[in-house]
Amino acid sequence: MDRDADVVVVGAGPVGTALALDLVRRGRSVLLLEARPTRPPGSRAIGVHPAGLAVLDALGVADELLAAGRRVRRGRAWGASGPIGELDLAALPPPFPFVLTVPQPITERVLREALVRTRPEALELGARVEGLAQDPDGVTILGRGMDGAERRWRAAVVVGCDGRDGAVREALRVGRLGGPYPDRFAMADLPEGPELADDEALIALARAGVVEGFPLPGGVRRWVVRVGPDDDPPPVGDALAVWVAERVALRTGLRPAPELAGGASAFGVERWLADRFAVGRVALAGDAAHVLSPIGGQGMNLGWLDAAALAAAVGTLWDGAEPTGPRIAAALDAVGRRRRRAARRAITRAAGNTALGRPVGPAAAAVRDALVGRYLRRPWAAMALARFTMGGLA
Ligand SMILES: Cc1cc2nc3c(=O)[nH]c(=O)nc-3n(C[C@H](O)[C@H](O)[C@H](O)COP(=O)(O)OP(=O)(O)OC[C@H]3O[C@@H](n4cnc5c(N)ncnc54)[C@H](O)[C@@H]3O)c2cc1C
Repeated sequence: MDRDADVVVVGAGPVGTALALDLVRRGRSVLLLEARPTRPPGSRAIGVHPAGLAVLDALGVADELLAAGRRVRRGRAWGASGPIGELDLAALPPPFPFVLTVPQPITERVLREALVRTRPEALELGARVEGLAQDPDGVTILGRGMDGAERRWRAAVVVGCDGRDGAVREALRVGRLGGPYPDRFAMADLPEGPELADDEALIALARAGVVEGFPLPGGVRRWVVRVGPDDDPPPVGDALAVWVAERVALRTGLRPAPELAGGASAFGVERWLADRFAVGRVALAGDAAHVLSPIGGQGMNLGWLDAAALAAAVGTLWDGAEPTGPRIAAALDAVGRRRRRAARRAITRAAGNTALGRPVGPAAAAVRDALVGRYLRRPWAAMALARFTMGGLA
C-alpha cells in the first residue's frame, strides 16, 4: 500500500495540531486525523506559560495568541488570614515575562487555522482511529472515516495525541500508572471586579480550600474553587456561578458578581503516566502520554514541549536516505524517555500544588502560610518562579 504521509498524527487537540504544524513547516508530509467533525464547546486550559509560548512562537502563531490573550505579570499569594507573598512574573527573562491567559478553544482555533493555511490537505476531520499494526516497512492505521465506513491509512511514523483515553496507547498495549485525586473543584468565569489589577492572578490558600482567580480576555475572571468538606455539592448551569461567587467571597472577602460571563463546570482531578512514550514507529504525546492535575495548569504546555521535541527528532529523519525502522524506533525512544522524565517531574509538581490547596486546620494553615511565604522570598523566589512557570521541563 502506498504511504498516505510520512507521519500520521492522531488527534487534533492543541498538542496534535502543534505537532502537525511543526512537521509541515519542516517540509514533512503529514496527515492529522481527528475523530470529531467539529470542536465541542467549553474551555479547559487557559494558562500559556513562557515555555509554551516559545514553542508557539517558533510555529509563527504566538503573535495572534498574544493579541487574543491577557498577560499575567504578578501572582498574589494569600494565606488563611491575608497576603503572604507574590510571584513577580515580570522578572522572567524576555521575550515572555508573563503567563498568557487565553481560552483553549481560541488556542486550538489559531493552531488549526495556521495548519490549514499552510497545508489544507494535512487535516482530516471525522477520522476515528481504532487500531494500528506495525510491520518492518511502516504502520497501518485502522479506523473509520466521516461516513462511518472502514478506512486504512499508511505512514512511516505515527504519533498518538488522542488525549487521556487515547486509542493509540491502547493499540500499543502500553499501560499507565495513576488515578484520581480525592479533590474536586468548581470553576466559573465571572465579570471582573476592581479588587485585583488586570494583570494579577490570585492564589488564596484559604482554610476551607484554595481559591484561584485568573484574568481572562473580555473583562472576565476565571475563579477556581476547591470543594471543601462542608460545602454543598456544586450545582450545574447558571447556579454554579452563584455557588462559586459565594465561596470566593467567604474565603477571600472579594465579591465577584455572581453572573456567568463564560463557562462554568465542576471537575475532579487525576494523574496518569504511560509506561512508555514510544514503541517502534509509534510515539505518544500530550494527554495521551501524561495527565496532570490542572491545579498549576501545565498539561497542554507540557504536551507542546513533547511535540517540539518529537518534531525536531522526526523532522530530521528524512535528511538522508529513507530511515529504517530501527533508526526511527531509536529516535522516538530517545525522545520518549526524555519526555517521560519531564512528565514525571511535572506530575509531581502538580500533585504538590493540588495538595497545597487542600482544606486544613488553623495550626496547619499557620505553618503552611509561613512556609509558602518564605518560599516566595529570596533566596527561594527564583526557584518558586521557575517551578510555577514550567522551568526545567523542556
Ligand atoms: C479544568 C482544566 C483546566 C486546565 N487548565 C490548563 C491550563 O491552564 N494550562 C495547561 O497547560 N493545561 C491545562 N489543562 C490541561 C489541558 O486541557 C490538556 O492537557 C490538553 O487539552 C491536552 O491536549 P491534547 O492535545 O494532548 O489532548 P486533547 O485536548 O484531549 O485532544 C485530543 C484530541 O484527540 C481526538 N481523538 C481522541 N480519540 C481519537 C481517535 N481515536 N481518533 C482520532 N482522534 C481522536 C479528540 O477528539 C481530541 O480532539 C487543563 C485541564 C482541565 C481539565
